Amino acid sequence: MVNNLKHELFEAYPLLKNIANQNTVLWENTKRLKKAQTDLFSMEEVKEAEETLKRFSSYLIVAFPELAASEGLIESSIKEIPNMKAALEKEFETSIAGQFILKCDYALPISGSIKARGGIYEVLKHAERLAIANSLLKEEDDYATLATDELRAFFQQYTIAVGSTGNLGLSIGIMGTKLGFNVVVHMSSDAKEWKKAMLREKGATVIEYEADYSVAVEQGRKEAEQNPMCHFIDDENSKDLFAGYAVAAKRLQAQFEKTNIAVDEEHPLFVYLPCGVGGGPGGVAYGLRELFGEHVHIFFAEPVASPCMTIGLMTGLHDEISVEDIGLDNKTEADGLAVGRASKFVGKVMETYISGCYTVKDEELFTSLGLAMESEGLFLEPSAHAGMFGPIQLMKNGQSYLEKHNIADKMEQATHLVWATGGSMVPQEMREEYLKKA
Ligand SMILES: *Cc1c(COP(=O)(O)O)cnc(C)c1O
Repeated sequence: MVNNLKHELFEAYPLLKNIANQNTVLWENTKRLKKAQTDLFSMEEVKEAEETLKRFSSYLIVAFPELAASEGLIESSIKEIPNMKAALEKEFETSIAGQFILKCDYALPISGSIKARGGIYEVLKHAERLAIANSLLKEEDDYATLATDELRAFFQQYTIAVGSTGNLGLSIGIMGTKLGFNVVVHMSSDAKEWKKAMLREKGATVIEYEADYSVAVEQGRKEAEQNPMCHFIDDENSKDLFAGYAVAAKRLQAQFEKTNIAVDEEHPLFVYLPCGVGGGPGGVAYGLRELFGEHVHIFFAEPVASPCMTIGLMTGLHDEISVEDIGLDNKTEADGLAVGRASKFVGKVMETYISGCYTVKDEELFTSLGLAMESEGLFLEPSAHAGMFGPIQLMKNGQSYLEKHNIADKMEQATHLVWATGGSMVPQEMREEYLKKA
């Protein structure tokens, strides 16, 4: 980015200086609309994803017997974590009005992170398309047939490739190799050794890069283009990934109904989503706003060294600005969030949907990691702890937002939903290492 443009940006957006200095900030999105809208995506695609996932349920039960209890649905529970709420209030000297609830995506079956939503959906959709085009499957069939040797041999002719900081690779790798595909995962330098080892064990090919996520994705895309039998899962642009994540919203709505959690004018819902390139949190945010309308207030959480979505939305430059452009190094222990340049597609869609973004320091992530273990016996990976700071940021710095939306006096009836995006696959010795840093 040229220097005079940089200078203009810092003039136009004073908060950008704070961000460049790695201070934690709460940025409010003034483009949010009560009725959000986009031409780039529709609920039709979410409905299609839901139906596709349903068709695959009988196969998924055969392939992953752990899914029998949920009848082949890949879903996580919600739960109250009152002890963690109290621990955060004490540690950060603030009181959080309202209910504090965790969305347990760290415990999602198959791959233990939010990527079990979008990533697995895109692999399944691709497999279905190939099998139907080759007359090996019809939509009316029992999809358990996909677990047969004949179908596995068929998929073995094809390759699926993806660029990842770790968890997306894990989801694609586990699901893809289970079906029989060759899977190639292009891993950024942030990716943890254990994630690479687990993938190789499953039979995936792991290509390692010294560079960050954007380079790994770019290389993956280039290599895949040379192979007509290869499908590239494009984390920066994929609508299938986005649709898979968005399915979470309908499922959450049903969980809220079951547990009598209201979302309406008197009962605002706040959702805090850790954000990397944007697809996961973006898909969930899209679905939630379509279903709950103006009464859901969504904030994305990013590390102070990797606030790509914050600066992309704030400046309107989306993928045309990177964290390096403002002097940040994109180095964080929150490996799932180590992304320097946001998805253009997701950033554009989110313009009228989300309420804002905030940033978190790595040391705060580790403080939260320790508190969660101590207060609730709960282990989440560092990335997932970014969500925990949403209620604190909002209570400390979001007063003007609450007043503007006439909800400052409704906070006692509010629900804070922290989206806990990953962690159950982290091996024991790695957990201990993290806890030592806490
Ligand atoms: C990938 C990931 C995210 C963010 O998802 P994006 O689609 O990259 O924005 C958040 N938390 C965890 C644990 C992740 O693996």
